[in-house]
Amino acid sequence: MNTSDSERLSSGFTNMGFESTDDMANADVVVLNTCVVRQSAEDTATGMLGRLGKRMKGNSDRMIAVMGCMVGPEQSELKRRFPYVDVWARPQEFEPILETAGMRHGLDPEGCLSGAVPENPNVASFIPIVHGCDKFCTFCIIPYRRGRENSRSPFEIIHEAEMMVARGVKDITLLGQNVDSYGHDLRPRIDLADLLEQVNDIDGLERVRFLTSHPNDMSIRILEAVRDLPKVCETINLPFQAGDDTILANMRRGYTIDQYLEKVALIKEMIPGVSLTTDLIVGFASETDEQFERSMDVLRAVEFEKVHISEYSYREGTFASRKMTDDVERAVKKARKVAVDELQRVIQSRNNATLVGQKYDVLVEGRKRDRLHGRNRGDKLIYLNVPDGLGVPVPQAGDIVLVEITDSSPFSLEADLPNVEARVIKEKVPVV
Ligand code: SF4
Repeated sequence: MNTSDSERLSSGFTNMGFESTDDMANADVVVLNTCVVRQSAEDTATGMLGRLGKRMKGNSDRMIAVMGCMVGPEQSELKRRFPYVDVWARPQEFEPILETAGMRHGLDPEGCLSGAVPENPNVASFIPIVHGCDKFCTFCIIPYRRGRENSRSPFEIIHEAEMMVARGVKDITLLGQNVDSYGHDLRPRIDLADLLEQVNDIDGLERVRFLTSHPNDMSIRILEAVRDLPKVCETINLPFQAGDDTILANMRRGYTIDQYLEKVALIKEMIPGVSLTTDLIVGFASETDEQFERSMDVLRAVEFEKVHISEYSYREGTFASRKMTDDVERAVKKARKVAVDELQRVIQSRNNATLVGQKYDVLVEGRKRDRLHGRNRGDKLIYLNVPDGLGVPVPQAGDIVLVEITDSSPFSLEADLPNVEARVIKEKVPVV
């Protein structure tokens, strides 16, 4: 979400006539986009701000703006601590930043944000479709910092998606803290399934995904859209957060683990071969060894493709920080995280090994550590080995090639580009 916000603001600056630089010391404008989902992230942001203040001291021409989740509705304490910051902007509040920069440099920001999409986007890019969250899980700061759910209009989203496709994007992930709730606040009311249908119709786009789902809001209609719409990929991230009902109730997640597992069974039944990933917190307030073991049981039962694990950390301002004690020792949290990592390594190794010999269309994304890589529809990272004397041009970012998997690890797959049969299915759309 933050990467997407930064790209959008950066594009607004480009439209105004600014150029980006890697040399922060000589920048006229520095924007710090902050994530504070964990206390450690907020500490990193405040540390950076302190260093920025020292660096910019005595240079009143430079402008510093801070945006993102660190900026809540109440900013007086931040303004007192960091008096040299020129603009404080809440998430997606791009206008005050552009207006202040425009006034300083005699540039007009009018219209610069509409159609603000990156000049050279990645072939796999993100579009935020709903901001904020109405769920108020007890451990989470997001609803307090990003506000209540606020859906963007489908017209705006489709326009942005079409512009991205015109610039070479082939794979779009629609983003929301709770993406399944998209549209409930719009009139006429639409839902994520309707939006997926519209995005699916965009010419030149190959793949559509969405992130992150809440088990209570993942409807049959959304699952039917994943099953029936050809461009919508069979990938679903469905956080369960804990495997024990008491912990789930203390987290105020709104479901029991049996209800969660019923939803997983429905997804697997409706979408055979679905790639399921999840989020899990270990060491939440008062979590016992026995309760943690229930999370491990869920991991063994579902066999997720990937698990995003967090050790619970006290987050000031949340319900949990006021009413619960962060009483699981740090070493215990760490040990639980290691246990989850080890279990997942075994599950992912075993599952990925079964994919050797399978053929997939891989969307080439570029090079990582000098190796060509891409993803299949199931979002598996696949490294492509390019043999000598390939006989056809080496695929470029944006090409889709059919490959056979030759090797696997817990975290990625490998495939050789076949010499003569390497089949470039789609040429990259020229950059506009
Ligand atoms: S649904 Fe997600 S973003 Fe919303 S409060 Fe819960 S954890 Fe936070």
